[in-house]
Amino acid sequence: MEIQPKHPTSPVRSRIMQSVGQKDTDIEMRLRRGLWARGLRYRLHRRVSGTKPDLTFRSARVAIFVDGCFWHGCRQCNKAPKSNSRFWRDKISRNRERDVQDTLRLEADDWKVLRFWGCEIRSKLHQVIQRIEEEVHP
Ligand SMILES: [Zn+2]
Repeated sequence: MEIQPKHPTSPVRSRIMQSVGQKDTDIEMRLRRGLWARGLRYRLHRRVSGTKPDLTFRSARVAIFVDGCFWHGCRQCNKAPKSNSRFWRDKISRNRERDVQDTLRLEADDWKVLRFWGCEIRSKLHQVIQRIEEEVHP
């Protein structure tokens, strides 16, 4: 991400948010198609334990989150703007904090939580699906 927004409310910011959001949606779609092809049937964005995992497998009590590399602060990919980056850093750290809380709440309710980075889904979808399958059909 090379663009450096001058002000948090600038149109640049909303363009960035939009384009990152679209990429994340593509990644989620890839995962969903892959799971579907393996015969794994999930529920989409169902509310459980006060949060909404991207995918849930109810009977196996497995919750899946797809963490977009930008918004969730993937250390391997994150190229947040270096200047004027306070806005982004704050937002990303709030997201990360919420991710931790969501995971803990689900685990306390006896859910198995799997989180995958966007880049993992992009570069090794097969392993990601295998990992999910192991939990859903052990
Ligand atoms: Zn990443």
